Amino acid sequence: MEFTNKTAVVTGSTSGIGLAIARELASKGANVVINGLGDAGEIEAARAGIAKDFGVQCTYSDANMMVPEQIRKMIGDAVAKFGSVDILVNNAGIQHVCPIDEFPEDKFDAIIAINLVSAFHATKAALPGMKAKHWGRIINVASAHALVASPYKSAYVAAKHGIAGLTKTIALEVAEQGITANAICPGYVWTPLVQKQIPDTMKSRHLTEEQVINDVLLAAQPTKKFVTMEEVAAMASYLASNAAAPVTGTVIPIDGGWTAH
Ligand code: NAD
Repeated sequence: MEFTNKTAVVTGSTSGIGLAIARELASKGANVVINGLGDAGEIEAARAGIAKDFGVQCTYSDANMMVPEQIRKMIGDAVAKFGSVDILVNNAGIQHVCPIDEFPEDKFDAIIAINLVSAFHATKAALPGMKAKHWGRIINVASAHALVASPYKSAYVAAKHGIAGLTKTIALEVAEQGITANAICPGYVWTPLVQKQIPDTMKSRHLTEEQVINDVLLAAQPTKKFVTMEEVAAMASYLASNAAAPVTGTVIPIDGGWTAH
């Protein structure tokens, strides 16, 4: 039970990769704060499921990752409840697929706010407590799009490249204080985020659904397989472990060979 007596805050964990990471950390003993949007009943079922399945404490924060005060409150509430935030997983993210000359300004701003700027606010709020304990783990869920671009994803690619730079900077600033910062870069993972972009990609590229899956999404991944949420969660768990103490400032692809091209 590697994470007994540790507290993890995982943003965007009411669904997809974040929920898988929250469950993985809880399975190794961490108390967990889940966060995200969605149906209240489904969120409560996810929260109660973590507490029941793993015998840990699990709370829910409804902080909107577009609102800095709410992000600070999420971290403050976690510290008040559990005494510390030891593992911070900045995972919340959204996508919008559209040519740049038609890209809605409000969508661009929202993607930068949720996928990039929220990680700054959460990290800023969590670091003083980590420094005091001389132990901390910042894990940013970036994307293969932190390393390479794809057309029609200007905001997402900009945000994800940005979070790679933020990760490295945090790592350098706290390297001597027992705190690591790393970014995980998944390729395509079959989650609602990917499912929802299929119709827009069909429109932007004039393709059928099957063509989008095989010729756009899986074409990028030499393995021709979607990465699983559990595979991403296993990497997050490793990065949170004591064994990963010297691993910091890295931007790690889990992408079936995509960025080896
Ligand atoms: P998802 O849509 O299943 O989950 C996204 C989560 O973010 C949800 O819990 C949602 O409620 C939350 N969220 C969205 N807007 C929010 C806001 N304003 N405030 C708080 N929470 C908010 O998507 P996912 O695929 O699990 O994505 C999780 C992360 O993984 C994202 O950062 C995404 O960019 C990244 N990622 C996903 C893939 C993929 O193929 N699915 C690949 C690489 C990286």
